[in-house]
Amino acid sequence: MFKLAWRIAVPRYETDAAFDRLLALFHANLPILDEVCFFETVTHQLYVEPAILERRAAILADRITACRELGIPSVGINVLTSIGHIDEAWDTNPPLPFQPMIGHDGGVAKGSGCPNDPALRQYVDWKYRLFAGAKPDFIWVDDDFRIHHHTVPFPCFCDRCLGLLSAETGVRWTREALVNALDQPEAGATRRAWVERNVRSLEDLLTHIGRSVRAVDPGIELGLMTAGPGWTTYSGVQIGRWLRALGATKLRPGGGFYGDAARLGIIDKALDCGRQLEDLPEAVTDTQYEMENFPYQRLAKAGATLAHETLLALANGHTGIAYNALGMSDLGFEDEEHLLAAIHAGRVGWDELANVARGTHAAGLWPAWSRDLAWKRELEPGETWWHPSAWHSSMVPTALAEIGLPLAAQAPGDGTILVGRMVEALDDDELRALLSGGLLCDGVALGALEARGLGHLTGVRTAGSYTNGLAERLTDDTLNGSFAGELRDARIEFWGDSRGQAVALEPLDDGARVLARLEDYFGRPGEACVSAYENEYGGRVAVMGYAPWMFLRSVSKRWQLLSLADWLTRDRLAVRIDEPVSVTPWVRLDAERRRGFVVLLNHGLDVLESVTVRVRLADGETAHRVGPMAAWSTAVVVV
Ligand SMILES: [Zn+2]
Repeated sequence: MFKLAWRIAVPRYETDAAFDRLLALFHANLPILDEVCFFETVTHQLYVEPAILERRAAILADRITACRELGIPSVGINVLTSIGHIDEAWDTNPPLPFQPMIGHDGGVAKGSGCPNDPALRQYVDWKYRLFAGAKPDFIWVDDDFRIHHHTVPFPCFCDRCLGLLSAETGVRWTREALVNALDQPEAGATRRAWVERNVRSLEDLLTHIGRSVRAVDPGIELGLMTAGPGWTTYSGVQIGRWLRALGATKLRPGGGFYGDAARLGIIDKALDCGRQLEDLPEAVTDTQYEMENFPYQRLAKAGATLAHETLLALANGHTGIAYNALGMSDLGFEDEEHLLAAIHAGRVGWDELANVARGTHAAGLWPAWSRDLAWKRELEPGETWWHPSAWHSSMVPTALAEIGLPLAAQAPGDGTILVGRMVEALDDDELRALLSGGLLCDGVALGALEARGLGHLTGVRTAGSYTNGLAERLTDDTLNGSFAGELRDARIEFWGDSRGQAVALEPLDDGARVLARLEDYFGRPGEACVSAYENEYGGRVAVMGYAPWMFLRSVSKRWQLLSLADWLTRDRLAVRIDEPVSVTPWVRLDAERRRGFVVLLNHGLDVLESVTVRVRLADGETAHRVGPMAAWSTAVVVV
């Protein structure tokens, strides 16, 4: 079974009339209701007057009983705020009676408190005990559990937090001194101590919350909602540590993907939620992808999109999905009817696929990342620690998913994708291990590998780096198939800072194959810019020097990259789609690679009459014809 959970806003249950309507909806939808959780508050600001919450807890005790009587298997409470999310309603809410979070720039949060403030902890302790007393089956701790982005972007620089760091480092810090130190290239140890402080501030509060709930009822299960590393690693992304501190059995990975206007965000979110499943304690067996519909308006997200997200959640290793889909209205459900219909239509298929998914793991190329990126990241002259470069992003490889390469959210994949300066976050042994397998990297990563003395393992060296006036032309290497001579012009100088977008490569020996060369706008050829090389470790490494993460959608470039991925994984890459179509595959296989499934997302807006999907299993390749696929549709191939 694939667990379908519903999050319910306060206006939906607070009055008897609204709750009667909600119960009627539940009654009509029991087959798609495995779990219900009720938000305890309507505001993302932490502080709500105790009398209001006491009244609400009493109401919730009644609502939870009513849901159980209706036959809903699991009923709990979603505590929306433990720290505060953002500034909200500062003119109509009472001000925080706690130490507010203080940003690195001295900014003062209006809605979020310092997790180390004893007054905040006392309030949070009281609040969790109060809601534990309503006898829920479980309590979620929502995703304000991060240090970053509480309107003040990089807290918390209050005197108490600075004092904690001072005690841990033996240096007496002021905000100004620490902010300045964090921006110094040689201050890696300070950055490490600060990120660890961020991890601990959250860990300590979670320990505290776990104790508060268990003091009331040790039988209440706890769950933690988290945000992914694709956003930032400033908070340390120590999801395993935090889950252990809380004593959690549930995890809800989340991220922003709010509507169809930017539909390809579905791929980014699937990847970043899948990543949050790494390092799970054994006790955590209930993992619910967050399906986000905020602010709950019918025309924002199609029922089809909800269904696609559910399928991608399954394909990325979750055991269920938390629908944040029912809106804030206390009246009707006109904004949600289409979503309910989509869930009814999908339920049986998802449950069947969840059975197939048992014992499988993600297959495809693994985009490398590190939870240590925030403190290991290096600072070049003129750079500030507060704003990583685009070459530090762990999300740009989704450009490869968009053209049909399967990505594995969890390591190890069939091969690895290494983005530019992510190299800085990996130690030499980790890099050697990646270079011993199949590795696809860019020209900036080549430079970073050279700085570490590992460049020779790519078979090429950096021969120059340009910012304008260049396209690339494919060579007659066999990996280019029939596309030798094709030109790709990404017009790199159009899109802002183009440093790193045209790195020239020089082969170090005859074994380095050249798949493309730079060429100026007047047809004059230049140096090599795409290479493939088998190194002394037996690793197969490809370097993409020209516009590696944008405008990869041409038929010829897609062919080159798919062929390159097959070559560097020694034809082990789990899936290849023949036709040049806008289809992203997600693959899960068992350990022996004898069975599993492929989920296909046609994120294009054309109908695809027939798509040929080649799946590579231990005993060879099988080809499957899929179609027709409607625009913005999915298909599943079980193998
Ligand atoms: Zn603080």
